[in-house]
Amino acid sequence: MSSILKKEKNKQTSGVDICFLVSSSGKKSYQKLSENYSAIETPTWALLLAESCRSVGFEVKIIDANAEGLSHNKILSKIESYNPRILCLVVYGQNVNAGTSNMSGAVDITNYLKKSNVSYPIAFIGSHVQALPKETLEKEKNIDIIFTNEGVYALRNLLKLENFLPDNLKTIKGIGFRDSNFINITLPEKVVPTERMDIDLPGYAWDLLPYKNKPFDLYRSPMWHAEYDLKKRTPYASLQTSLGCVFKCEFCMINLINRNDTDEVGVASNYSNMRFWSTNFIIKEFEKLIEMGVETIRIVDEMFLLNPKYYVPLCEKLAKLNKKDKLRMWSYSRIDTVKRLDILKLVRKAGIKWLAIGIESGDKAVRLEVAKGKFEDVDVKDVINKIHDADINVMGNYIFGLPGDTKETIKKTFELSKELCTAGWNTYTAMALPGSQLYKDALKKNYKLPDTYEGFSWYSYETQPLPTDSLKPEEILEFRDKSFKEYHTHKPFLDKIEKTFGKKAAANIKDMTKVNLKRKILGHLK
Ligand code: SF4
Repeated sequence: MSSILKKEKNKQTSGVDICFLVSSSGKKSYQKLSENYSAIETPTWALLLAESCRSVGFEVKIIDANAEGLSHNKILSKIESYNPRILCLVVYGQNVNAGTSNMSGAVDITNYLKKSNVSYPIAFIGSHVQALPKETLEKEKNIDIIFTNEGVYALRNLLKLENFLPDNLKTIKGIGFRDSNFINITLPEKVVPTERMDIDLPGYAWDLLPYKNKPFDLYRSPMWHAEYDLKKRTPYASLQTSLGCVFKCEFCMINLINRNDTDEVGVASNYSNMRFWSTNFIIKEFEKLIEMGVETIRIVDEMFLLNPKYYVPLCEKLAKLNKKDKLRMWSYSRIDTVKRLDILKLVRKAGIKWLAIGIESGDKAVRLEVAKGKFEDVDVKDVINKIHDADINVMGNYIFGLPGDTKETIKKTFELSKELCTAGWNTYTAMALPGSQLYKDALKKNYKLPDTYEGFSWYSYETQPLPTDSLKPEEILEFRDKSFKEYHTHKPFLDKIEKTFGKKAAANIKDMTKVNLKRKILGHLK
């Protein structure tokens, strides 16, 4: 039994039931980009879980150390002032796929707190522990409890316990914990079904977020979302109107929140499932944000424009809220669901001024293989033109180094991106993210994986992308970093930005390209 669990004998009478902590891995994961350029997202799952626990009578607090830039010492005193029965680190990514890289800051603060002999157990919820529950508990001796899926019901059941001793913990489904040297992973817990979303995940505990002068002023959008205008980045918030995704892309680990097995290595594509809040319910969350002065909003859904029965009424309601076209929102879409101009016009009317589209590869065979049914075979150029015709900007997302990629195909992808000339460009190197099929394949193929959590960040010094049959990780990474600069200084792109958003926007982009990312595998010194 860990010493911390022994200490938790009786339910404390003062203090809150649970404190959610969002830690920061900024510098390690984003290097210099963390200073001005990377986004600071509102912590979706901390907000959802806090509201869920609060709705059934538990007292909760949130510390967003990432937004507030708190030192370890400040975090410790803040937690002490709340005196929680349990501390829960919520470790997802700003980018949905960045949960593992954010483990770096979460583990650092956990080790610091344990060194300070804190008396509450420390739990982790997030994509990395969902993917590798046993391995994480074996490796990180200071983590007491982990949740094996989204954790809504497991967390409520845990908080009902009189104490967190192993005999009690064994009765809670959907968790893992250490009992002496033995790691217990309990049976899976169910996730909130669609018909109970409004009831068991009843919105966001916005009021628990920190701010400086006015709500949401510690959060900032990515540059492109704010039309490359630094002033429009804040106040900013993210909102999820559905959870999960019906697809099974090999590089993605989004569906880990739905995990329903106890395998040592979870693979997200085994848990594909999409759940929705009702339109009438979720529109109220948008209303709250707008009332608090937020116009720059990210709709976090993995597949917002998938089911017209859902998104059409929602967009109609949003269009009514989008008075004077003030809203500046973005959402993801799959490329083959945005073929109809009338739908695109409605989306634009709703205030969605950007669609992030996963184009992934300029090579059809590579794209269709890795996306596992995500795409019908569509004419990418035609789709992008239609989106542009509806006055919506596109953030084009690409991946270099997918299985089957060669020097020629990644070049083809880059050339396609230049031809499409979208106002936003983002290219990742393929990475074996824990919880993705690529991770499981990489283990089988004995590929070198990152030695550190931040090695799973696309922007870190330690970044370790996957190789392909014909390309080394360093070749792919070098091409990615060069392409980033080339695209963002490409004259047709900058002309387009200047024409659409003004001179200052183009100047801000040029400034951004001056940040040089250092990479260990390219032989750079730190
Ligand atoms: S479409 Fe693919 S990449 Fe996008 S969220 Fe779904 S599984 Fe992940």
